Amino acid sequence: MIRFTVSLVIGLAIVVAAAIWLSDRPGQIAIEWQGWLIELSVGRFVLAAAVILTILIFLYGLVRAIGGAPRKLRDKRRKSRREKGYRALTHGMVAVAAGDPNEANRHARRADILLNEPPLTMLLSAQAAQLNGDEDAAAQYFKDMLDRPETAFLGVRGLLMQAQKNNDRPMVLHYAERACQLQPKTPWVLTTMFDLQVAEGRWRPALATMEEAVKRGALTADEARQRRATVLLGCSREAEDEGNAADALRYARRANTLAPDFLPAVLRTVDLMVASGKERPASRIIHNAWVRTPHPELARIYGCIGIGDDLLKRVRRFERLLSFNPDHPESHIALADAAMAAELWGEARNHLEHAAGEEPSARVCRMMAELEERVGENPEALRTWLLRSAGAPPDAAWICDDCGAAWDNWSPRCGDCGALGTQNWQPPTRARGISLGLGLSGDAEEEPLLLGDEIVDEPVDDASAAAQGYRTRS
Ligand SMILES: [Zn+2]
Repeated sequence: MIRFTVSLVIGLAIVVAAAIWLSDRPGQIAIEWQGWLIELSVGRFVLAAAVILTILIFLYGLVRAIGGAPRKLRDKRRKSRREKGYRALTHGMVAVAAGDPNEANRHARRADILLNEPPLTMLLSAQAAQLNGDEDAAAQYFKDMLDRPETAFLGVRGLLMQAQKNNDRPMVLHYAERACQLQPKTPWVLTTMFDLQVAEGRWRPALATMEEAVKRGALTADEARQRRATVLLGCSREAEDEGNAADALRYARRANTLAPDFLPAVLRTVDLMVASGKERPASRIIHNAWVRTPHPELARIYGCIGIGDDLLKRVRRFERLLSFNPDHPESHIALADAAMAAELWGEARNHLEHAAGEEPSARVCRMMAELEERVGENPEALRTWLLRSAGAPPDAAWICDDCGAAWDNWSPRCGDCGALGTQNWQPPTRARGISLGLGLSGDAEEEPLLLGDEIVDEPVDDASAAAQGYRTRS
């Protein structure tokens, strides 16, 4: 309207200026049309034309203003509806955050009616249904969201979370894969996929997902470094299960190169190397590892090298192994074992005594008992060692840092709690407690497991465990 008025004033000003200009330049205009003759001075003609034009412009504006009124009214009403709808949506979200299901539901319905935009209100309706404990209704809303490209991802996320809550692993995997198709670069999708792949033992896809997660910032480089070697060992197992020994060794070596002090990687690498006839490089790796991390499994694999050798030659090789870490009890136990196999009773006894020290472990006690049994000269000593083995400090095992379960063999993922890369070779500690193969596990810190009147000190070797009624898992 203002624009119209301004144009009118400017128009009139131009007309007046033109009239003045023309009055200074007089003349006549004659119009003859259909027998009519109109004669006018130029000034009057221009004035008449200007008046007619002005009236026409005014009439046009008036008609437009009257004709557009209903539309403007409609627009105003629509705008007000949308504002009310968004307000209801906001109140609904606040109600969801506050955990008020009735309010959330009321506002969700109101927003749905006012906005008539299902993509905006579906999520609120689903959340309101969840707050009401109506998971079926929520699932239906999430499924409806799947049909619209703009809400499909939100729908998948809702359904995935429902499946996780219900512990429905196949559906979790299904929706995680769907989420991955929709938004393959979303951090939480990648970490969820990784956890699921690890849980399913799909190590090679897990490795690829992990690398993508690092690239997308879902995992820090530090977190990835710790997990990578573990996942690579999982890949190695997966390849071995498929009969692909070369790939199995390749993955193990990669893990070993990434983390040279990571004992499970050393063990798996040398085990696979010895199995594929690569005994010399395997020996070298064992010698190097023995300096830092002597381990019974490492000794067992070392014993498999040169299987055709005579027993005395085998003892000489274990003497060499001992030379890499001469003070460690594990070196003496390994050599004693080889000496016993060669029936060198004196040498075996010497090294077992060296390994025993002040407080022999259950394993050393058992080996001593075996020695006495095989020599057969001192039944009393045999009995004493057997008794001592039952009360001896427990040997180390693969203990899960998360749940405390003890295992004979390392695995990438704890078979009890499912944690990744949490098993460490260590003596069980009094503080943590272990799961006992009796279906008991966890919470050992708060409630130490009791046998008789004593706190279980987590013995892990078979004999003492058997003596005390529990065992490690294998
Ligand atoms: Zn565990």
